[in-house]
Amino acid sequence: MTEHVCPSCNEKGFTWSLDEEASANIIWYCTVCKFRAEEKEDLESMCLQCNIKNNMYLESGGSYFRYCTECKTKTEADP
Ligand SMILES: [Zn+2]
Ligand SMILES: [Zn+2]
Repeated sequence: MTEHVCPSCNEKGFTWSLDEEASANIIWYCTVCKFRAEEKEDLESMCLQCNIKNNMYLESGGSYFRYCTECKTKTEADP
């Protein structure tokens, strides 16, 4: 599985998994810093830097942000 750059520690250890019985969201997990976030896939949007639909909507511990795995841009988001 491809590992992406983690928005928390900036190391290449960010992977996802899907557990449809536990949650409809995609679970992102960093193998380096143990950062964990849930992605609401239907809220994925265009990244204004890359011009591709790669800007994920993530929730982690009650905070919400958008993150693009291409250009590593992280922005605050509304819940
Ligand atoms: Zn990390
Ligand atoms: Zn981007």
